[in-house]
Amino acid sequence: MRTGIRACYDRHMPKVAVKALSPPVDERFMRMALREAARGAMEGEVPVGAVVVKEGRVLAREHNRPIHLHDPSAHAEILVLRRAARKLLNYRLEGCDLYVTIEPCAMCAGAIVHARMRRLIFGARDPKAGACGSALRVLNHGKLNHRVELAKGILAAECASVIQDFFRTRRKRNPSTVNRTKP
Ligand SMILES: [Zn+2]
Repeated sequence: MRTGIRACYDRHMPKVAVKALSPPVDERFMRMALREAARGAMEGEVPVGAVVVKEGRVLAREHNRPIHLHDPSAHAEILVLRRAARKLLNYRLEGCDLYVTIEPCAMCAGAIVHARMRRLIFGARDPKAGACGSALRVLNHGKLNHRVELAKGILAAECASVIQDFFRTRRKRNPSTVNRTKP
């Protein structure tokens, strides 16, 4: 009897050690966006990172670069949408998902709608300028036809701390920038 139970138990147990499950897909791509944000910080840009993914494949990754490009529109989201669209040779990014570390502003939320993105996944909310429900609601506004599936709060604490650390360091170096919170 005992043998039988043992045999049954063995049959249902895995034969090899179970590897730890890989982190959920959204977290994996958000970590990639965080690495982009860190690149931005090293360049002295407000550290926001973004990644465009289609069917599990990374099409483009970018970080904020308005200072270096002398371009007020060079937010990570705009740059990554442009790069992905060039790759697909299509200004519509249907079926594509955008991962970004911070809630997009009104300009970027508008571009996400124009691009017909499938999903937007962001990390930390931006209560001052976030246009996906925090300060404004551009994304999924009732007047707009296109709907974007929204996932928020993915690695939110890490995404927020990248920005907070950046401004803390900058305030220490140059107290006159204390009130500048956005690029
Ligand atoms: Zn923006």
